[in-house]
Amino acid sequence: MLNINSISRGIVIDHIQPGKGYEIFKFLELDKADYTVALIMNASSKKFGTKDMIKIENVLDMDLSILGLLDDSLTVNIIENEKIKEKVNIRLPEIVEDILRCSNPRCITSTERNIVHKFSLVNREKKLYKCDYCDHLYHLEDHNNDH
Ligand SMILES: [Zn+2]
Repeated sequence: MLNINSISRGIVIDHIQPGKGYEIFKFLELDKADYTVALIMNASSKKFGTKDMIKIENVLDMDLSILGLLDDSLTVNIIENEKIKEKVNIRLPEIVEDILRCSNPRCITSTERNIVHKFSLVNREKKLYKCDYCDHLYHLEDHNNDH
């Protein structure tokens, strides 16, 4: 397996579903990073067979729990002095702005430009969101179902 030096301070996103790593990498705009980042694809995993991983040698100023929208099986570890200092609890956010897109063609977000797409969580267990403008439902699993 590819040997990546352990990082002294930063973030390790682990247990990403195989194939999702690149999507998350781009979502975090790591392709534009000026610090050390590594995307590891198809690493072997006891739990899943294979997994993707991302290592970031930097502290990102953002709410990483939002990554649960893209893949709720992943784990986020904050590293300090080469040890795990904190595990970020991945929870679906109550309010999501400008990440999910409403698919209702009659929704104001479809007909007008420059409107922030806004969704509210209606059922955490079922991973169900609804559009704040038209009440159209958005089922995360339908968009994230390659388990
Ligand atoms: Zn809508």
